[in-house]
Amino acid sequence: MVSSDIIPHKHNTSKSDRNKLLGNKSFTVWFTGLSGSGKSTIANELESRLISEGILTYILDGDNIRHGLNRDLGFSDSDRKENIRRIGEVSKLMVDAGVVVLTAFISPFREDRQKVRELFGENEFFEVFIKCSIEKCEERDVKGLYSKAREGKITDFTGINSAYEEPLNPDYIINTNESTVQESVNGLYNFIEKKIRF
Ligand code: ADP
Repeated sequence: MVSSDIIPHKHNTSKSDRNKLLGNKSFTVWFTGLSGSGKSTIANELESRLISEGILTYILDGDNIRHGLNRDLGFSDSDRKENIRRIGEVSKLMVDAGVVVLTAFISPFREDRQKVRELFGENEFFEVFIKCSIEKCEERDVKGLYSKAREGKITDFTGINSAYEEPLNPDYIINTNESTVQESVNGLYNFIEKKIRF
């Protein structure tokens, strides 16, 4: 509970001033999908495209969050919930700072993603479902985690012994079983580009 003694200071400068300074709107592109579905790959390529167009972006992912801010959290359901809550709050601050934020986390629970959405205004949060069959993700096994999970060396692994709740109404869907990285990024870039200009 937030104390009633915490009274916000009224700052002179707002998000819209920062957006004007940078020349574009800011929002969060929230990738969700199984491990190995392609979230990091697509976020990375999308970031390169946006930066080359002069748009300031930042990727939040396991590397910069799980090793720092959230290093105290594991993979139990309650820790996953807290992980996503904090990432949502950080994304909100960064959007307020004027940055286009790309988040690449499995974020398996619908309710947690919905709560993050509720932190944002209209057109400030886009949920992008990176859809890929578990069989394909397991075949790719980019980080060798599926085989470890199958051997019982990892518990709570999404898709194997922990649930993944698909989005019911995502803003954009990419099926990486069927499309190449280039096709996936091109389509998403066109979607994002329409949202970014004043
Ligand atoms: P995640 O971040 O979801 O765990 P990664 O991006 O680390 O997944 O890995 C996805 C793997 O799938 C990469 O090796 C990538 O080259 C491959 N891949 C194949 N097709 C696609 C596609 N259309 N989009 C994204 N990745 C793809």
